Amino acid sequence: MLRENLQETEERIAAACSRAGRDRSEVTLVSVSKTKPVQMLREAYELGVRVFGENKVQEIRDKYELLPKDIEWHMIGHLQTNKVKYIVDKVKLIHSVDSLKLAEVIEKEAAKHDCIVDILLEVNVAEETSKFGLKTVEVIPFAKKIAQFSHINMRGLMTIAPFVDDPEKNRTIFRDLHKLYVDIKKKNIDNGTVSILSMGMTNDYEVAIEEGATMVRIGTGIFGARDYNI
Ligand SMILES: *Cc1c(COP(=O)(O)O)cnc(C)c1O
Repeated sequence: MLRENLQETEERIAAACSRAGRDRSEVTLVSVSKTKPVQMLREAYELGVRVFGENKVQEIRDKYELLPKDIEWHMIGHLQTNKVKYIVDKVKLIHSVDSLKLAEVIEKEAAKHDCIVDILLEVNVAEETSKFGLKTVEVIPFAKKIAQFSHINMRGLMTIAPFVDDPEKNRTIFRDLHKLYVDIKKKNIDNGTVSILSMGMTNDYEVAIEEGATMVRIGTGIFGARDYNI
């Protein structure tokens, strides 16, 4: 199942790139393995997957220990400040920075580990009250503030679009975030290292790619439905 799912996902990513006149190499696939057993991640690894997305600190810690060290772990879920220390030297990218407090803790912990942490700012474009993330208008002032942190490298923006029956309904959200992304790149706030726009999940990644995503986070489409009762 995994092999077929990966193949189908790959084909759909390539087709969306081609529709948008983009090169396939412009889009990174993050395979979202949250709740899935290590054995399934190992199988994906053997099929060539190297970029895994997780949303729980404990799960990253456990899986990190058990799987090969050339895996890139991406923290895509809400991150509590008291847990930053456990993953700051293990993750390739934190997608979900949405408060100054969190940025300050990442800065402090990264300094302790003498490393520089790549992060994205999570933007709640649709301003859904149920979701984390900065409001669109807060993003540029926030980016300017954290540009002074020497152990944080702000690489771009991330959003979780609303759950909708028709992915077309999220097109304007993706378009708006892409506009903001281009604007931030132009302003050169963080020394020109902004190059990641993380948007699009199983239900809407093709639309997100058409609207400029450089990173898509796909779970269900690769690993199948999640069971939260196990
Ligand atoms: C779970 C999750 C995904 C993947 O969702 P699917 O709909 O299963 O593809 C992507 N991004 C974030 C932040 C998630 O928590």
